[in-house]
Parts: sequence; structure tokens; C-alpha cells
Amino acid sequence: MEFQSLLIHGGIDGDEHTGAVNVPIYQTSTYRQSSLGVNSGYEYSRTGNPTREALEKLISQLEDGYKGFAFASGMAATTAVLMLFKGGDKILMSSNVYGGTFRVLDKVFERFNLQYELVDTSDIKDVENKITENVKAIFIETPTNPLMTITDIRKISDLAKRHNILTIVDNTFMTPYLQKPIELGGDIVVHSATKYLGGHSDLIAGLAVVNSEELAEKLHFIQNSTGGVLNPFDSWLLIRGIKTLSVRMDRHIENAKYTAEFLAKHPLIEKVYYPGFENHNGYEIHKKQAKAAGAMISFTLRKEVNINKFFKGLKLISLGESLGGVESLISHPATMTHASIPYEIRQKIGITDNLVRLSIGIENKEDLVKDINNALQGEK
Ligand SMILES: *Cc1c(COP(=O)(O)O)cnc(C)c1O
Repeated sequence: MEFQSLLIHGGIDGDEHTGAVNVPIYQTSTYRQSSLGVNSGYEYSRTGNPTREALEKLISQLEDGYKGFAFASGMAATTAVLMLFKGGDKILMSSNVYGGTFRVLDKVFERFNLQYELVDTSDIKDVENKITENVKAIFIETPTNPLMTITDIRKISDLAKRHNILTIVDNTFMTPYLQKPIELGGDIVVHSATKYLGGHSDLIAGLAVVNSEELAEKLHFIQNSTGGVLNPFDSWLLIRGIKTLSVRMDRHIENAKYTAEFLAKHPLIEKVYYPGFENHNGYEIHKKQAKAAGAMISFTLRKEVNINKFFKGLKLISLGESLGGVESLISHPATMTHASIPYEIRQKIGITDNLVRLSIGIENKEDLVKDINNALQGEK
């Protein structure tokens, strides 16, 4: 089955008991056992729930993995994956990863002595130099949030394999429609399904997919032990969102290309970060490992532009956290998504105060550029 069909018929296709074309919402905490030790395959919904399982099977197929897991948020998924490691281990992490990923390692796991080091994962030599005895994983995002830095997933996973360490890829920005980290050698994929997979800014969810039975057993043990599972209703809602992923993404991509080209020509814009531009660092690598540039664009405003006035001037595009929904959203990384990163580190990694991040929705593309243009000109 081709990917577009798998989105709709993958996982568990409908309900075999009734013929319903959609998976039912099994809103239950527990399951009747016919006699001692005999059950229907389900015992308690933290451990397993049929609606969640349908979603978990679906994401596993979409990512070409061994097994999928659904969590209450992207951060719950990442946290569960990080719990595969122990005190004394060290994780190498792309600099300018999602702010929350940095925070959970820096402020929570640090207390349990799980160490981390920020590396420029676009520089394979730098990553290799930082591999020491206790490094157990490389955690990457590509393109990164918000500077769209590209990392070669194949090269990182080859390097990781040579050193017997795991490659973990946050695939939120691309989704499996555009990029499949496991095919490229990755071991674990994590998603904030809150974003493109859900696609409608109406739920918080996380997914993780592993490539082996051994990792699946370990992660299921962690999921069941720590309990950050996705509830049945949101599992159903996420399956619903995933069905339209390919049509939404196609429009997102078209709109983003149009908007990025508009921004690049605008005299009040200093620099545009968009992986679809040939002069974007890592353009060739991105083209090789992903089917399209995606729909995230970051740019810096020239000094003449008052950033507050610019945000206020936007009428169609909302100022807000998050991304990947049908509606366009704009954000200010320095004070919003990346505020938890200390100022000095932000400057060092390029998250300056005039940097703006745009998540392009599926509205009319002319309306989008008109809105940006009006806000830049300071018109009403
Ligand atoms: C939003 C996001 C997360 C965190 O996901 P939540 O669902 O908000 O917990 C992780 N990684 C990336 C790239 C994100 O954009």
C-alpha cells in the first residue's frame, strides 16, 4: 500500500465487530476477565487500550518501525525515551533542539545524573570527536527548530552504529510523509503529534517508534511503569487527523514555498531560513533525505521594523506557540519557545531577538503574504 492509502487504512482499519469504518473509542479503564489469569488481551488501559493500540500500529507502519507508542504529549514521549538511559550515561544533542527537550535534560534528567552535551550535528567530525565511553545516544532534530539546521540522518546513524550507540530523531517538523528516519538508519523516532500529525491545533499528543523488539520491550515497560499514556479519545482524534496528513502537507508545502520566496525578496527582511532554498546550508542533504522542504520558515527582521508592531499588525496569522496546524501561526522564539534557554546560549546558537518563526497553514497563499506585507508596512 502506498503511503497516502496507509494513512487512511493502516494500523487497524475500522471495527471488525460492527463494520464501522472508524476505530471505536474504547473509553474504558479496565476489562472483564473470564476467569483467573484469562483475559481478552487487555487488562488495564495504562498497559493497553484498543484505540491507543490502533494509533500505535498506525504510526509504527507509517514510520516503518517495529513498534509504536502513544503518549500524552511530545514531551512525555521524549521523556519516556530518555528513561531508556541511566545515571552516568550521556546524550549528544543537536544545538537548537526544541526548547522543552533541552529543558528536560538540563533541569530534570540532570538531577539523575543523565548528562548531555550540545553539539552541532550538522558537523559529523564535531559529533565524532565528542563521542566518549559514556555517550549512549545522539538526539537529533532535522531541520531544527527554529534555524532549520540540517543534519545528515544517514551519516549520524552510521557513526552511531560504529560506536554502538542509539540514534534518536525528533521527526515532528517533517512527519513520515516527508522523512523516514528509521529507513535512514535511525533507532527511535519521536513526534510531537500535537503538530502536523494531529494537524488541527486541537490536541496534545506524543508518539515514539522504535526499530527493534528489544527497544520495544524496554519502552513498553517504561510506558506502562511511568504511565504517560495518551487517552482513548485523543488517540481517536489523532487517528482522524493523520488520515488527512498527505493532503494537508501538500498545501502546507505549496504555501510555504510561496511565502518564503516572498520574504526573501522583501526589503524589510534580513535573512530567511527555509530548507527549500538552494543557498540554505544543508540544502543537498535535506533534498536527499526528505521529500520536500516542509512548511516552517524562520526569518530575521531588519532593524527598522518594530517587532511588536509587526506582530500586532498581523490580522490573519496569529501570534502563538505551536506549529503544524491548519492555521498559520507566528512566534518569537527568544521569548516564547526558546525562552528556557539562557540568553548567552541563545545568542551563541543564533536565536536572536529579531528572529521570527512562521508555521505556514493551509489558508490561501495570497492572503498569507498580503497579511505579512501589510504588517511589515505598518498598515492597518
Ligand atoms: C512541540 C514540540 C515538542 C514537544 O511536544 P509537546 O506535544 O508540546 O509536548 C517536541 N519537539 C518538537 C520539534 C516540537 O515542535
